Parts: sequence; structure tokens; C-alpha cells
Amino acid sequence: MKIEDFLRAQPPTKIVCVGRNYADHAKELGNDVPADPIIFLKPPSALLAHEGTILRPKQSQRVDYEGELAIVISKRAKDIPRARWRDVVRGFTCGNDVTARDLQKKDVQFTRAKGFDTFCALGPHVETELDPRDLSLVTRVNGEVKQDGRTSQMVLPCDFLVEFITSVMTLEPGDVILTGTPSGIGPLNGGDVVEVTIEGIGTLRNHVA
Ligand code: ZN
Repeated sequence: MKIEDFLRAQPPTKIVCVGRNYADHAKELGNDVPADPIIFLKPPSALLAHEGTILRPKQSQRVDYEGELAIVISKRAKDIPRARWRDVVRGFTCGNDVTARDLQKKDVQFTRAKGFDTFCALGPHVETELDPRDLSLVTRVNGEVKQDGRTSQMVLPCDFLVEFITSVMTLEPGDVILTGTPSGIGPLNGGDVVEVTIEGIGTLRNHVA
């Protein structure tokens, strides 16, 4: 199912993101890997479909890509044990957790840095039949490989994340979990084309204004 059709039929009430879920990415930002996952929210107003254009806000001098595996929730979910995580998952797609890195460093929390319109790109479609445990995840800018990781490098895998997040909040159908980014993050400039490719899903492509 194309992501535009999915988002129209089942708009998310929230996008839950996981920080520092790849050890090498935590290290490149000078952070430790936390014992409990760090979670934060992106607003649904930040959503951007495949082939859409990322807008760089005037408030930021440094807007970064973060290629991520996205989990799409299928039904209302609270206190889901690890063993049953797949029961509440509709499928997977590629995500770009676009981040105003300078504002993330400046603000005490991430709402502004991660919450601008067009800062949550998803697509190209929702893949329902997929084992997400060891997939190649590659981010390219203008065709050049910037991030080259595998989902098996996640500190906390998908089943753990669903259990942990639903122990905190109720997830609704259409809600999205962005599972964190591998190392290699970097800036986006006007005119760039950024692509996130995940094995078994395809390529999410976005343009930068
Ligand atoms: Zn991220």
C-alpha cells in the first residue's frame, strides 16, 4: 500500500521516535547508550510522503537526515509483551527523522528540532510481510552513500521497543515508531535529493528546498 493512501486512510495520532538506538550513532554525537530507551514524539503535522520536499526552517543553520526503519501500528496497543509484538504491527516502511541539529543541541528537549513541518518523511509504501531483524539500511544524498547500517545493529530491537513504548502509552492504529538511526548522519542543503533504502521495502526519496 502506498504511504499516501495509508496515511489518508489511517492518519497517525503520534510518531514515537527512539534516540541513540545504534551504538555507533550515539558515539558520533558524543552520547552514551542509555539503559532505558530514550523516546520522544514528532507531531503528525511533520509528516511528508515519498517524493515530497523537505523545508529547511529559517531558525536552523543545520538540518540533518536520519535514515530509520519505521514500524506502523495496526491496532490499539497497551502493555504488549515482547512475544506478541507482531500482533499489533501492520508493517514497516522507510523513515527519515529530519532533525535541526543546532536546535536539538540548544533546546533542553527535542520538540522544536524534530517537529518542523516536513520533518517526518515516510514511504514509499507499507510492507506487511517482512522480518525486520537484519535488514540493510542505506541513506544516500545526491547518490552518495552516507549511512550504511543493518537493523541488527539496533541496541534495542523492534519487539523490545513495542513492549517498552506500550508500557508507557497507548498506541493507536496508524501510529508510527521510528526505531533510531545508524552512524553517518549529516546535513541537507538546498537542492539535495535524500534517499533512504531498506532491504525488502524499497527507497524513500525526498527533495530539499
Ligand atoms: Zn532519529
